[in-house]
Amino acid sequence: MPLGAAAAWPADRRGPRSPAARARGATRLTLMAVAVYGLFAVIVAAQVRLGLMAAGPAAEYCLVSLSGIVLFYGLVRSGLSLRLGPDRSMTMAQSVFGVLMTTWGYAIDAPLRGAIIAIMLLNLVWGMFVLSARQALTLCLLALGLLAATMVWKSRTDAADYPPVIEAFHFVFCAILLSAMSALSISMGRLRSKLTTRTAALQAALEQIQTLARSDELTQLHNRRHLGELLAIERQRQARSGQELTMIMVDLDHFKAVNDAHGHAVGDTVLQRFAAAIRPLLRAGDLVGRWGGEEFLLALPATPVQAGVELAERLRQAVAAVTCDDIAPGLRLSFSAGVTACLPGEPTHQAVERADRALYRAKAEGRGRSVVG
Ligand code: GH3
Ligand code: MG
Ligand code: MG
Repeated sequence: MPLGAAAAWPADRRGPRSPAARARGATRLTLMAVAVYGLFAVIVAAQVRLGLMAAGPAAEYCLVSLSGIVLFYGLVRSGLSLRLGPDRSMTMAQSVFGVLMTTWGYAIDAPLRGAIIAIMLLNLVWGMFVLSARQALTLCLLALGLLAATMVWKSRTDAADYPPVIEAFHFVFCAILLSAMSALSISMGRLRSKLTTRTAALQAALEQIQTLARSDELTQLHNRRHLGELLAIERQRQARSGQELTMIMVDLDHFKAVNDAHGHAVGDTVLQRFAAAIRPLLRAGDLVGRWGGEEFLLALPATPVQAGVELAERLRQAVAAVTCDDIAPGLRLSFSAGVTACLPGEPTHQAVERADRALYRAKAEGRGRSVVG
């Protein structure tokens, strides 16, 4: 009875779980299987005591079934099962073991063999939630084949306990149940693969929504909200490390005139080209986002103000080299920038306001320059 199998239910049924949680689940459920095999051994022992079963075959049966399930438990608990395949619970192996043990039980437990058919079904139902349709079908056919062979063998060799007519009824009963079970397994397998596909599609949609929620649609830089979140994290890091953090507020010069002269669509393209021009000059940890219309905020961790000013100059050269002749002949871009040191402990908005004031001084002083505030 592969009760431990349920621990391998895929993430699409139970939600993503950590490997440690999956390991605990697999171990717990295999332990439950050990308990069920143990209880069955108690029932077998009780039958021996009541003279319903021969002691020798019963002892052999209990020894093999208990050793087998304890071995599975050891493999699952230690994680050695993962060396044998991706399914930590070894569902298929446990299921085949369950089918073999149930068939053996049918062969030695004549009085309770009807109940054993029910245990066989439980065994198959349990595996059905994890196994593919093909595996479940194989298991059902294996169960039916083994039971049929056992019924023929026992009715020939022990007709007193296994009368052929009763065995024929048992076989028909099993054939009906196992055929229904096969049909159910196939539907269940299809349902699970549909669920997997849908979960993957949902996951992709979720990732897309997250990207859209974080980035500016036009420039693909961070949007203001996400930049604010990243900035808050960076400020916490700065509070711990005490490192310098420089902010640069950038505003394109005379951008309204670009729109007025060439149209809004050209203005949009110019913003995209501006973003594409500055991005390659930034380091991996630098933050840049669109703060407003044609205003961008940069945050440079572990960077002194002077290095920030130098970066602003490099950005200015890169932006001046952007060609827009294909959409706005003769247009050259420039920006003004306010550079400031973000002091450890000061509120972020205070540093942003200081960068903003420095930016407006740069505008007032003639644009196309950086001012430190
Ligand atoms: P200054 O040098 O003083 O910054 O002058 P400016 O013209 O750049 O500044 P102003 O604030 O007067 O105008 C900004 C313009 O930016 C006005 C607005 O229509 C334009 N703008 C803002 N967002 C977008 C956008 O997403 N697309 C386009 N095409 N234009 C935008
Ligand atoms: Mg402007
Ligand atoms: Mg502006």
